[in-house]
Amino acid sequence: VNTLSARPATAVPLDRVLGDPWHTDNPLGYAAVLAADERGEMLAEGERLLTRFGLNAEFVPGEYDGRFVRADRLADTLRALWRRDPCLGLGYGLSSLIASMNVWTCGAESQRRWVARLLLNGGRVAAAFHELDHGNDLGSAECFAHPSSTGWLVTGRKEVVANLHRAEAMVLFARTGSKGGSRGHTQFLVERASLPAGRVSDLPRIHSSGMRGVQLDGMRFEDCPVPAQALLGQVGQGMEIVLRSYLVTRSVVPAVIIGPLDTALRLTLDYALDRQLYRGAVADIPYVRTVIARAFADLLAADALSSVTVRGLHLVPETMAVYAPAAKYLVSGMVVDAFSALRSVLGTQAYLRGGRFAMFQKLARDIPPATFGHISRSACLVTILPQLPRLARTSWGRGDPANEAIFDLGGPLPVLRLDRLDPAARGDDVLAGTLNALAGSADATLEGRYAARFAETLGALRAHCLALAPRDLTINASPAAFALADRYTVVLAAASALAVWRRAGDRLPREVLLGVLDRLDGRLGGQPVLSPVEREETEGKLFALALERFRDGTSLDLSARPIFPC
Ligand SMILES: Cc1cc2nc3c(=O)[nH]c(=O)nc-3n(C[C@H](O)[C@H](O)[C@H](O)COP(=O)(O)OP(=O)(O)OC[C@H]3O[C@@H](n4cnc5c(N)ncnc54)[C@H](O)[C@@H]3O)c2cc1C
Repeated sequence: VNTLSARPATAVPLDRVLGDPWHTDNPLGYAAVLAADERGEMLAEGERLLTRFGLNAEFVPGEYDGRFVRADRLADTLRALWRRDPCLGLGYGLSSLIASMNVWTCGAESQRRWVARLLLNGGRVAAAFHELDHGNDLGSAECFAHPSSTGWLVTGRKEVVANLHRAEAMVLFARTGSKGGSRGHTQFLVERASLPAGRVSDLPRIHSSGMRGVQLDGMRFEDCPVPAQALLGQVGQGMEIVLRSYLVTRSVVPAVIIGPLDTALRLTLDYALDRQLYRGAVADIPYVRTVIARAFADLLAADALSSVTVRGLHLVPETMAVYAPAAKYLVSGMVVDAFSALRSVLGTQAYLRGGRFAMFQKLARDIPPATFGHISRSACLVTILPQLPRLARTSWGRGDPANEAIFDLGGPLPVLRLDRLDPAARGDDVLAGTLNALAGSADATLEGRYAARFAETLGALRAHCLALAPRDLTINASPAAFALADRYTVVLAAASALAVWRRAGDRLPREVLLGVLDRLDGRLGGQPVLSPVEREETEGKLFALALERFRDGTSLDLSARPIFPC
């Protein structure tokens, strides 16, 4: 296997560039981030600093002089940015990544070089896919490209696209076959400056309740000439390219959105320690400690699944068509649920746009698009459903376990091969294999009992998925079929957590794993594995660890790294 170890981080780690969030003079501190949000603008100074840091290099493959070599490193860097400001994270970061991924996946050499140069010079690429009339239903997108003597003539609209007005280039998804559908669309890499002014017009900016600084734009094309060399991939290949390249971005998004939850938990701890009620701190109220402990456990569970998913891009590319939507579905749901729980602790302060805790309301508004943008949660389940009967048949009974490297967070990874990502998911479900192996060797410890519990759940899922009716493998699936796919994602998270903890040895406390598994088990219903006393002890330890990390200035995720400048 062609392995590479983690490349040295960029000269100045991003957290150092972002600086102390509480310093009022910091151009990237919370005060500046909130002021930009109130104005509905991107934080201009933040964008300048990110350009100086060379953030775009994280999105450009190493062979084109960028730093995109490892998906886990990319996710770590973006997570640091999202911890500070999701608007910068999406408007400066993720939007160009999503667009350019189509180019790395299938662009011609000249197109890759051009986009690499554009990004390395601080430019932007917009992903012009969405049309308000069609949403997730990309197969019905109507913006049309007709062949012409010099290339193509585009007619139609694109809407709710980040940075569409100010990006130097766009990846345009247009219909090229009269019926649309899976082979009826094509992608084009278009330079904005090359479009004749009279044939393209900017539609008014679209305003949103969260991500207020991100410019969501629309554009209208009227017989707009696009040169022949703009063709990205082949005619009719548009959807196939989407399905392949978005396996990367749909894997990275879950890992990234853990950043805002980390900040929200930190704000909640700060509030609970500071706020005095009934002659004590709010943090002394047992119920409040429990809410915080559970949100922390959810963050760690989400991190276990998302970290394994991101590493899976390198190690099991042939199965990512299941793991990427599973992570996108479960993690976005858990993060939004955790925000909701934490809001109950902050009460009024979770609602006020001013004062020390105002970042909470901003983050709580910024995070919901994670549940519907770049594929909705229900569409994720619809993507997973048709794959379940095959996985149940081939992998869930006695499939092979995963290569241990997938659980070795931060450890060496084989080269990322975009050409091996398979939208049809022909690979085996090795995470299920790992779970069954763990259950097979389980002892009477609590971890052993959890392994057995989740393996039993997988066994029950197997029986149900083998009996799924053809209709339940389509968008017309019954709620019961959706529930099976939902439970499957929880099993994947549990398998990931069990294996990540086992691999980490003493580096991750055992009690914390029990809290993580208890939370995941709670999503399945049924009799808890932990007794009430065991659960209270576990949650007490989780709260204590969260507090320790908060006071030490280390992140609350699995990396537990220092996140504020010394
Ligand atoms: C902050 C932000 C930034 C964005 N940036 C961009 C961008 O840069 N480029 C771009 O092209 N777009 C962008 N979008 C648009 C985004 O891609 C759309 O929100 C997305 O395509 C979903 O469309 P929709 O929300 O209209 O949902 P719809 O597709 O209209 O869905 C409506 C309902 O149907 C359900 N549904 C839809 N499809 C399925 C399915 N297959 N199975 C089951 N249920 C389904 C949904 O869950 C939902 O309940 C952005 C949106 C936001 C909010």
